Amino acid sequence: MSFKPNTRPDPEDKALLKDKSPSYIVGWNKVKHRNKGTPRMPAWSYSSIKTFDQCPKKYYHIKVAKDVKDEGSEATLYGNTVHKAAEDYVREGVPVPPEFAYMQPILDSLISIKGEKHCEIKLAVSYDGSDYKPTGYNSKDAWWRGIADLVIVNKDKAYLVDYKTGKSAKYADPTQLDILAGAVFTHMPEVTKIKSGLLYVVSGEFIKKEHTVDNRKSYLSTFSESLDRLAIAHSSNVWNPVSGPLCKFCPVLSCAHNRK
Ligand code: SF4
Repeated sequence: MSFKPNTRPDPEDKALLKDKSPSYIVGWNKVKHRNKGTPRMPAWSYSSIKTFDQCPKKYYHIKVAKDVKDEGSEATLYGNTVHKAAEDYVREGVPVPPEFAYMQPILDSLISIKGEKHCEIKLAVSYDGSDYKPTGYNSKDAWWRGIADLVIVNKDKAYLVDYKTGKSAKYADPTQLDILAGAVFTHMPEVTKIKSGLLYVVSGEFIKKEHTVDNRKSYLSTFSESLDRLAIAHSSNVWNPVSGPLCKFCPVLSCAHNRK
């Protein structure tokens, strides 16, 4: 196991890492135990763990101290509007607004796929250190939460699509499909194979992956190294800043590295 230089495990943490359980589970329990009367570490999502990977200090202010709200950029607001238009069209046939007409042919091709369509499906899984189980999106035992933009289920096969509104797929990160696929397998045990993809509705690019149920656990542990570091940061309460080009978009205005 390796640590990023920005997270310094204390001696107690090092002892914890000798435990046979995955350290993020140990960390989860440690935080729960240390902070009596406070809830467990919050469930994580793809976006929250990416925020932590980018900068632990940013994560701390937004997710732990909650003294900074991330209102999202213009691009985020645009993405939300596009997602809603796609959802309304695929689910109920609501006409695509003229400004998003470019994505109608792609959505039509998805609609033509046979199977039961689930739009913006909310998924959560619990984890006890050995296996992952389906749980309610708002359940207290949720370990991970995520929303799949579109899942089409046809017997033992499924299609999983995540809409992207970036101009190109240059910085596509298909690992988010792994965790979503693991969650779909967990919630829908009849599904044994998933064809998944990041669909760039502007450029028409489609970054494809295939997932099989025999790898379900490995998909759900895709982010285990980051979760290890997150658990240690929680238990040691060390949240060091990591400055970089994204500092100019960061909502943590009190940080010395902020260039807004
Ligand atoms: S300004 Fe940069 S270093 Fe400071 S919290 Fe934000 S991302 Fe981290």
